[in-house]
Amino acid sequence: MVACPRCGSQDAVLKVSSIVSGGTYETTFEMPAQGQIGGHKFYGTVQQKGVAQTALAQKLNIPRSEKAWKALADERVKQAEVTYRRKNPVPKMGCLYPVVRLVGWLFILLGMLSWTLENDPKFGVPGMLATVAVGYLLGFGLVKLAPTFKLSDYKAWERDLAVTKAQALQEGIQLRARASARWDRLYYCHRDDLVFLPTEGLSAPSSDMMRMLMLA
Ligand SMILES: [Zn+2]
Repeated sequence: MVACPRCGSQDAVLKVSSIVSGGTYETTFEMPAQGQIGGHKFYGTVQQKGVAQTALAQKLNIPRSEKAWKALADERVKQAEVTYRRKNPVPKMGCLYPVVRLVGWLFILLGMLSWTLENDPKFGVPGMLATVAVGYLLGFGLVKLAPTFKLSDYKAWERDLAVTKAQALQEGIQLRARASARWDRLYYCHRDDLVFLPTEGLSAPSSDMMRMLMLA
């Protein structure tokens, strides 16, 4: 048996996984229904199945859906970016980059507006097509080229930010495996409303369970 690290006794301690499986049960209830069988209408009841959980089982359960874990990983990436930006002020990106990009977008805009030249006798269809093509080609070319005009400090800053975010995402994905493995070994003391991991010497109030499971 395992003793609670706070009260030191074993009598109120249970394995969390068995509390949750014991506190989760299938329910069967009857619902009013109507339908048709062989052309005859009937009114009656049907049996419905559902899943219910005790409040404690709900509180001690770990998220099961992909969506919930994806949200946790995303949150981690966001936090990593905030920390990175606080520690590393944005270096100058150089004025050439935004200028080249702006000129590129102006050419694209020109290309888009040129579709209306079709009705202009001075241009006609071939003139219109030529102007559109030149506008688009030059425009997208410049927009694509623009990032090479960033200063190297800024490029390094951007690269490091991307690496930081990728690492945070990776950690976020590993988080699920670590938290789930810990949850499988987790105990709960009813007396203290405490969850704890005897082998790792970790304990926390049940409201803080997820934070504890996700600790590095
Ligand atoms: Zn206790």
